[in-house]
Amino acid sequence: MTVKPFLPECAGISETGSLTIGGVCALRLAEEFGTPLYVMDENEIRKNAQRFVKSINEHYGGRGLVSFASKAFMCKEMCRLAKSEGMGLDVVSAGELYTAIESGFPMRLVTFHGNNKTPEELTYAVSSRVGSIVVDNTFELHMLEQIAKSAGVTARIKLRIKPGVEAHTHELIMTGGIDSKFGFAIETGEALAAAAEALGMDHIELTGVHCHIGSQIFDIEPFEVTARIMLKFMNEVKTILGCELSELNLGGGFGIRYLPEDSPVPLEKYMESVARVIKETCGELNLNLPSIGIEPGRAVTGAAGITLYRVGAVKDIPGVRTYVTVDGGLTDNPRPALYGAKYAMTAANKMNQAQNKIYTVSGRCCETDQLGAQVTLQEINVGDILAVFSTGAYNYSMASNYNRLPKPAVVFVKDGEARVVVNRETLEDMARNDV
Ligand SMILES: *Cc1c(COP(=O)(O)O)cnc(C)c1O
Repeated sequence: MTVKPFLPECAGISETGSLTIGGVCALRLAEEFGTPLYVMDENEIRKNAQRFVKSINEHYGGRGLVSFASKAFMCKEMCRLAKSEGMGLDVVSAGELYTAIESGFPMRLVTFHGNNKTPEELTYAVSSRVGSIVVDNTFELHMLEQIAKSAGVTARIKLRIKPGVEAHTHELIMTGGIDSKFGFAIETGEALAAAAEALGMDHIELTGVHCHIGSQIFDIEPFEVTARIMLKFMNEVKTILGCELSELNLGGGFGIRYLPEDSPVPLEKYMESVARVIKETCGELNLNLPSIGIEPGRAVTGAAGITLYRVGAVKDIPGVRTYVTVDGGLTDNPRPALYGAKYAMTAANKMNQAQNKIYTVSGRCCETDQLGAQVTLQEINVGDILAVFSTGAYNYSMASNYNRLPKPAVVFVKDGEARVVVNRETLEDMARNDV
């Protein structure tokens, strides 16, 4: 079987048969910046961001905000990019907040998330004047009231709600059901009780509700069902507690194409369908249209990223399989191990050759760290440059230093130019904190 190389939108093939990314030759990138290397097409990230922003504006006028979920790919340059595209930013830790502050990101457009924020983190978020804190549980609500009181301010919050929707996605990235560790359940009355409590607090201003039902979701329906459930809950808060909340945040989770057979719904279609449901439901319930927030992570940066590796040993185990070993692995991409995630890949220096040989691509870590089992590639030899596609989300941000492997550099490419946005870690970095 011959597999034609599947190319993401940011990639192309040069006249000499090499892979290009954002107009830059992948082999040149590997040579100049070393491997493994995270390469991100800046135009592709911007285009995705612009599609989200344009589409939310079309449906909600000035009452929509697209926040980039920074956990998907966080560094100062990404914060600057998000800012320049008119996006807000989600952070979930002091480290992400610090990065946003250092990049000069406007704090009023930052939302602080997390199911177990520490007192220090909440204090940091309050003193940094973040725009909104999404409160996960009652313990946190009480702690935040005290912290805001000591600081002499009012903290603007949303409540993280479990809408009870289970999106059809991998069970480990399914976060909207009753069994989730995130947020307040509606069906047990917990969410309404939390809203009542928050409304009674002197240093808390409850502005809205938030939910996030999972990740890598391909259907529109779970989003529509969720929007309806959330608005019904907002209506309960209005009728029972006498407060009409003004913000509804529907989280992220928009799926992207990892494999040729993946066909995610265009985000414009998602936005249109959900906006229709929201407007209809508001009409039925006689609610004012709240401002709408969404929080894409993967869908902004995922398909814009390609990881380049250099092939080392090629091991043929007769009658069993042939292993292709690369100079990265679990450390720069833990998703195959975590989720059984699958990726499309190709030999960047052999784009004119047929992909008709089957290999198992394994990493260099002291684990069975496969980047792909039984994948169809060109004939592979030592020194080839292997490109793994759609690694722009949850790869760099999930990277580790297992085996004391330095994290790769991140390079942005754009219109034929390349620049480093995160330096490669050094050996000194590996022992930096050792005593
Ligand atoms: C992870 C997460 C997101 C982003 O999810 P994607 O699948 O990357 O779009 C958005 N909001 C919250 C609260 C999250 O936890």
